[in-house]
Amino acid sequence: KRKAQPSSTELVAQIIKGNITALSRAITLVESSNINHSKKANDVIKQCLPYANSSVRIGITGVPGVGKSTFIEAFGTHLTNLGKKVAVLAVDPSSSLSKGSILGDKTRMEDLVKNKNAFIRPSPSGDSLGGVARKTRETIILCEAAGFDTIVIETVGVGQSETAVHSMVDFFLLLKLAGAGDELQGIKRGIIEMADAIAINKADGDNLKSAKLAKVEFNRALHLYPQKASNWQPKVTLCSALKNKGISEIWQLIENYIEHTKNNSFFNINRTEQNKFWLLQTIEERLKSDFFNQSQIKKELKSQLQLIEAGKITPFAAAEYLLNLKN
Ligand code: GDP
Repeated sequence: KRKAQPSSTELVAQIIKGNITALSRAITLVESSNINHSKKANDVIKQCLPYANSSVRIGITGVPGVGKSTFIEAFGTHLTNLGKKVAVLAVDPSSSLSKGSILGDKTRMEDLVKNKNAFIRPSPSGDSLGGVARKTRETIILCEAAGFDTIVIETVGVGQSETAVHSMVDFFLLLKLAGAGDELQGIKRGIIEMADAIAINKADGDNLKSAKLAKVEFNRALHLYPQKASNWQPKVTLCSALKNKGISEIWQLIENYIEHTKNNSFFNINRTEQNKFWLLQTIEERLKSDFFNQSQIKKELKSQLQLIEAGKITPFAAAEYLLNLKN
């Protein structure tokens, strides 16, 4: 006979004791699309809130192959050696389609996976970035309540996912590679603007020389950007995730940043702004999914799309019709 599912109060009691099974269970509830699960998840999160918030949240992004997994393995291990408890989460809206979820392949995080002071959770699936991001944001709260003091959130450097991750972290790290030619080619301006530090990875062996050059170029470029609201001057640093070089320096840099932003109040102001943003974001997301999930809308949307294909209606008239159906 299957054991009954624990109540939300029981789950919370276990989570704040640091019980990983309970934590995983609660995250599964957060990720579920079942309405009863969502209700229970909300209840658990609410009860966990008083225990959350006292962590450092770090976002890490970079194109596939830049070395994110390898970096997180080295970085996370360094932090646990310092006595920290590290949770690694991911935001990857493409994972449900491609099944090639980041963090799905944990072979490059072999040590961290086995480390009892680390908790690794792959990206939730979902058909919208907003949905995936919301789930990850709620998971942060659960992890913090379970005693994780450092939250690392990985995302691939494509699409809008960096913006979503940036809006849920205290510190945003961009991993880059030194390449031939113009270092600044092909980098979205917005990502550079979000970065609190740029770490040029694979600064080892034959790459070291070009990595040093890239560092100079990025530093020069960063000085052209306007002052950040945090008053923090973004740093450029070299590292080799593979050779475990430059990792402790990056953590030192993050500690400096936390101290700087706590002293000038930006740290708390930023978290409050993020909460306001997420309130609005959650409403938008909910309204949207409630609307599109109605069976009548699903059906009528199909026929309106056909009318558009046939050139029989304007998109605005079709939208008006569908929106009015709802009321
Ligand atoms: P991700 O796709 O960003 O997660 O990148 P991975 O961590 O999977 O790394 C991609 C490849 O780069 C792997 O073959 C790694 O061994 C290699 N790699 C990662 N970091 C370094 C590094 O610092 N130096 C060198 N030489 N190779 C690295």
